[in-house]
Amino acid sequence: MIQEYQLRILPEIAANEQRLKEYLVKEKALNLREINATRILKRSIDARQRTIFVNLKVRIYLNEMPADDEYEHTIYNNVEGKPQVIVVGAGPGGLFAALRLIELGLRPVVIERGKDVRERKKDLALISREHMVNPESNYSFGEGGAGAYSDGKLYTRSKKRGNVDKILNVFCQHGASTAILADAHPHIGTDKLPRVIENMRNTIIECGGEVHFQTRMDALIINNDEVKGIETNTGKTFLGPVILATGHSARDVYRWLAANNVTIEAKGIAVGVRLEHPAMLIDQIQYHNKNGRGKYLPAAEYSFVTQVEGRGVYSFCMCPGGFIVPAASGPEQVVVNGMSPSNRGSQWSNSGMVVELQPEEVIDEELRMKNKELVAQQDEQLLAFNPNLTEVQLSTINSQILPVLHFQEELERQSWLQGGRRQTAPAQRMLDFTRKKLSYDLPESSYSPGLISSPLHFWMPEFISKRLSLGFQQFGRSSHGFLTNEAVMIGVETRTSSPVRIVRDKETLQHVTIRGLFPCGEGAGYAGGIVSAGVDGERCAEAAALYQKTKI
Ligand SMILES: Cc1cc2nc3c(=O)[nH]c(=O)nc-3n(C[C@H](O)[C@H](O)[C@H](O)COP(=O)(O)OP(=O)(O)OC[C@H]3O[C@@H](n4cnc5c(N)ncnc54)[C@H](O)[C@@H]3O)c2cc1C
Repeated sequence: MIQEYQLRILPEIAANEQRLKEYLVKEKALNLREINATRILKRSIDARQRTIFVNLKVRIYLNEMPADDEYEHTIYNNVEGKPQVIVVGAGPGGLFAALRLIELGLRPVVIERGKDVRERKKDLALISREHMVNPESNYSFGEGGAGAYSDGKLYTRSKKRGNVDKILNVFCQHGASTAILADAHPHIGTDKLPRVIENMRNTIIECGGEVHFQTRMDALIINNDEVKGIETNTGKTFLGPVILATGHSARDVYRWLAANNVTIEAKGIAVGVRLEHPAMLIDQIQYHNKNGRGKYLPAAEYSFVTQVEGRGVYSFCMCPGGFIVPAASGPEQVVVNGMSPSNRGSQWSNSGMVVELQPEEVIDEELRMKNKELVAQQDEQLLAFNPNLTEVQLSTINSQILPVLHFQEELERQSWLQGGRRQTAPAQRMLDFTRKKLSYDLPESSYSPGLISSPLHFWMPEFISKRLSLGFQQFGRSSHGFLTNEAVMIGVETRTSSPVRIVRDKETLQHVTIRGLFPCGEGAGYAGGIVSAGVDGERCAEAAALYQKTKI
């Protein structure tokens, strides 16, 4: 017999199966000898009161054994010889698109500019050690995409539970712990994700698909407003409809599209800093206990959101027990992001603290910040993709299509200059920032390339720094101890989402003017995070399959 219970229990009971069974025997009048197995279906922590509880939905197997699988299996058949679809980008959007194509009987050909997920790791180490950023292999580019060396947080605001569950089940099928199916805030961890990503790649190849690393799409082949395939830096062309899942850092792709009149539009983003506290302090605050989280609770999370002068100011991508990483994808940039291992055991907790921006706001600001050298570089890159662009066309692209991207670039460059033209990042203690005071020294930090004290309040654009400062003061009032000089702000966090939208039709998911082109995932402006990029990848695969049918 199977029984399910909704329980509200102490963490020490929830953490141990034997104690959980004893609790059930006592509270639900079960017979210990009849309990063959327990399965946690849902788990969340309620830390609102002084006593912390764990909410569990638990399934009990009485006198019977659970079925073998704890997750739903997807069947992937062989697709050799089937019509092919090109998937550009092996981030979550591209990988889930490729797997879904196989399910639908199509052959994915995945093109990825970066290295495989293991080789990539060496380039990440070089960023920290040598301050060298390989523009083709970094925290954004390479197998697994931007999510590969991350926290692997798998929660999303998406309301379409079925789609989200599918993504989580596919992750489990490829080696992720089934705990992600139960946890209210599931995460895989940066130590576990690479293996899962490799397994996904192996499924693609074993089923007859292709994966090409260190192969960059340099141009789309477009004929009569229809995509025929892509050209790559290796000199090889690949033919077929294209799912374009190149992520939010593929600035060359955006420039190519803009320069070649493929409709894209400017979109708002959020920018700010990474904020790092000692994990112990966040645990003390969130769990209302001076001893911190104790033995049975995970590193504590937080989430803050407020409005300052009509704009959202909020915490983003929180990494409890994590590290701040150098996430630049090119030269003359300092960009930070966060990741954490599966045990979330580091002595720091960080999150992005960002201010929402709209393109209109950025246009003026961008003009103010513009420096001639960078503008010349930006124009040069556009002209490389289309030497026939006129002055007027260049100016329209710069002011109407790419202003947010240029703003990101400018801010990242300022951060690099402030950091001493290395990956050393400009930083300021949190309370000093709100008091507009340079920090004389900085606390120890997880950011391995090193920090340099810098007056962020002074050089960050005022419309960001002022709102951040007011936001911090509000957060400090609502959460005693949060606004502190034990916390350090590290600049800059600019890659929160895509600075453009590659405009697609709502129904067919094809680009508005180019048939057979499916803009996909975060880079196209239709997802934010690993799970939603995966969901969008699946949708684009379905749309590409429908499109292929009309071709046969
Ligand atoms: C350090 C870090 C931590 C993060 N932590 C989390 C987290 O915990 N949870 C979460 O949900 N999200 C997290 N994110 C965000 C998340 O990674 C992204 O939302 C997600 O990866 C977007 O998926 P995507 O497939 O759309 O794009 P991406 O993951 O960016 O993948 C795009 C891929 O396309 C490739 N590419 C680009 N241009 C070309 C080209 N011209 N030719 C061939 N290939 C190309 C890139 O190399 C890349 O592999 C994090 C991001 C970073 C950087």
